[in-house]
Amino acid sequence: METTDNIIRNNLETIRATLPPYVKLVAVSKFHSPESILKAYECGQRVFGESREQELRQKQQQLPKDIEWHFIGHLQTNKVKYIIPYIHLIESVDSVRLLAEIDKQAKRIGRSVNCLLEINISGETQKYGFSSEACLQFFESNEWKNFSHINIMGLMGMAQNSEDPTAISSEFSTLYNLFCTVKERYFPMDPTFKEISMGMSQDYHTAIKQGSTMVRIGSAIFGDRL
Ligand SMILES: *Cc1c(COP(=O)(O)O)cnc(C)c1O
Repeated sequence: METTDNIIRNNLETIRATLPPYVKLVAVSKFHSPESILKAYECGQRVFGESREQELRQKQQQLPKDIEWHFIGHLQTNKVKYIIPYIHLIESVDSVRLLAEIDKQAKRIGRSVNCLLEINISGETQKYGFSSEACLQFFESNEWKNFSHINIMGLMGMAQNSEDPTAISSEFSTLYNLFCTVKERYFPMDPTFKEISMGMSQDYHTAIKQGSTMVRIGSAIFGDRL
């Protein structure tokens, strides 16, 4: 037990030491126990990412209430209502239909919900997310302005799982450029639109070089998922 505690602490400290101060660390705790999350919490970590609604619901009920939960997986519209009361940021909004449901449920309980649009930067068909073109079309359509209970805070993306650092860099740079375009055209005076969530255990150094403001790191903190 002692060893596990120290591993999580050491991992967190090592990662934090390499992050620029403007980069937020999301500790991805999916498939890891509430006990492991508490270890990280005791080391000062308050932001955690989960990808399944039921697992998140159970952990949220058990764990300290000042944890900032981020949803990072594919979210089914029928699950939205369960996370709306407490979710801090939904990073993985992958369709307009999902955004509409989040808006509806948020309105119902009278809160605003922070969201990022997930962009499929690798172009892999098994990945969720807007294409760059669909993302620009969405903002151009002005449809998003009707979503009165949503704060669109930026974009999220995942690079391909590859050994090729040039390919990964180029995918992150695509996301950064898309972010800049959207920012310039649609949010020039709005400080809310500011996040580029990119970078995981294997590629977060590259993501930071390409302009990431938020990294989602799981196995490098908690070890392999069982
Ligand atoms: C699981 C997951 C991560 C973390 O992956 P690691 O390789 O364990 O750091 C980050 N982002 C998303 C969307 C994930 O599903």
